[in-house]
Amino acid sequence: MSAQSKKAHNFIQSLIEDAIAKGEHTGKVVTRFPPEPNGYLHIGHAKSICLNFGIAETFGGECNLRFDDTNPEKENQEYIDAIKRDVSWLGYEWAGDVRYASDYFDAIYDFAVELIEKGKAYVCALTAEEMSEYRGSLREPGKNSPYRDRPVAENLQLFRDMRDGKFANGELVLRAKIDMASPNINLRDPILYRIRYASHHQTGDKWCIYPMYDFTHPISDAMEGITHSLCTLEFEDHRPLYDWVLENISGPCHPRQIEFARLNLNYTVTSKRKLKRLVDEGFVDSWDDPRMPTISGMRRRGYTPESIRTFCDMVGVNKAGGTVDVGMLEHAIREDLNTRAPRAMCVMRPLKVTLTNYPEDKTETLELPVHPQDPTMGAREVPWTRELYIDREDFVEEPPRKWKRLAPDQAVRLRGGYVMTCRQIIRDDSGQIVELKCEYDPATLGVNPEGYKPNGVIHWVSATDSVEADINVYDRLFLHENPDSDRERDFTDHLNPESLVRLEKVRAEKSLGHPRADLPYQFEREGYFFFDEAASESGRLVFNRTVTLRDSWGQGKG
Ligand code: ATP
Ligand code: MG
Repeated sequence: MSAQSKKAHNFIQSLIEDAIAKGEHTGKVVTRFPPEPNGYLHIGHAKSICLNFGIAETFGGECNLRFDDTNPEKENQEYIDAIKRDVSWLGYEWAGDVRYASDYFDAIYDFAVELIEKGKAYVCALTAEEMSEYRGSLREPGKNSPYRDRPVAENLQLFRDMRDGKFANGELVLRAKIDMASPNINLRDPILYRIRYASHHQTGDKWCIYPMYDFTHPISDAMEGITHSLCTLEFEDHRPLYDWVLENISGPCHPRQIEFARLNLNYTVTSKRKLKRLVDEGFVDSWDDPRMPTISGMRRRGYTPESIRTFCDMVGVNKAGGTVDVGMLEHAIREDLNTRAPRAMCVMRPLKVTLTNYPEDKTETLELPVHPQDPTMGAREVPWTRELYIDREDFVEEPPRKWKRLAPDQAVRLRGGYVMTCRQIIRDDSGQIVELKCEYDPATLGVNPEGYKPNGVIHWVSATDSVEADINVYDRLFLHENPDSDRERDFTDHLNPESLVRLEKVRAEKSLGHPRADLPYQFEREGYFFFDEAASESGRLVFNRTVTLRDSWGQGKG
């Protein structure tokens, strides 16, 4: 056994190790990640990416990025670009150039001709309805198409004519001649090629026939010398067809298909088709809306590549499907950010405080650590002035027992600053509290006060030397744990109307005026927040809430 991984073992890795040990596998391990460019990548794809690139890495092999582009009507360049960006951002490098199944259209066509010549494929003129009728069902065998025994020469001619544009969309198809009575419906003479007059993003108008996924995929794998073709469980029943194709063409090699369970996450959907509906129907702003379970949405929300990779590791790879708690994903990002996120203060619901005994024109510059446990991250300058803001929720007139924040005639410490005591409440005409007059204790910077004890520590910013920002407070996109499962109602009925709450004109400490764009901040006592560079182009300073501070995942599990 050669390769050892630092990560948890998965069954695919063990399988390959065994094959190497027994001498059944020699040479490089080559895998591929094969997205269809018909949408943006989501967290489910991340699992497949981590697995395919991870296996290659573990065995010192290679992983290709190949676009499975056989449906030109649904595909486009925007998706291709986004997918490349996301794979790179996750930290993976594909071997050589990006590949496209369409690179192999000529070869695939030639293999189809080979099958026809061997009497293993035929051109069929059944309509779609007839075809499904002839296909039979799980209980009943299918019936042979009346075109099944067309002579080879006629098939060759018709297939050429299909390619040359002599027939209309859908008029003819090329089918494999396998077994209409097979218990596996995928083997009941599946379609290999169909006519589609559609311009293709890579091949333009060269083709008006396009190969089906089940025919394209094994051939593309073989053309690239893939050794292990890892795919999700729904393709298990297609494996006999995958193998049939490779056994019946004179391809360069025969990769091994291995299936694993899809990743499903609760409180969201992981299907490009459904995610596309959310975008197209305006339920979210875009594919990279931070509420989306897309890689690009998660990036904008503040998820790090490390946290996504850790999460995929935690989920593991197995044969049994299931739904993973989104709390686990949130746990992964908290763990990562807790050790790395710079700290800052931001007051979400500003309430003005005037320190009556602090000089009007004075400013002190306090030095606060960027990270309390990591001195190597340095210090930040936070101005202390006569007028400050605290959070409205950190003050009550009639404190409950054990109140840990500010109340009339009570004292709190302002994080990294002095202790102050509330002396007077100022209200506007409607009775709303608009300001607190407080006294600060000049002897309390970094030391406990003499003779009294502050209630607790709250965050704050200078009122006169801070910056204004807007905050997008994101919550789960769906209220239903499994929005897909409701047979009565559309999944969009379960959207959370409060998945985005926008807080405007919050006050952030001065250092946030030029925020880092590489890592979210921990806003003390509030959560993790990531600078939204795109949204901030308008001149506003915008932060997205990545996740709250409180972690409930794994509670009650010892
Ligand atoms: P969707 O249903 O979201 O459209 P898909 O399977 O059609 O997904 P592809 O672009 O064909 O999307 O997927 C590329 C690769 O990612 C495939 O190998 C597929 O098996 C894998 N994949 C897709 N969704 C998941 C998931 N939820 N969990 C694990 N792997 C996935
Ligand atoms: Mg697909």
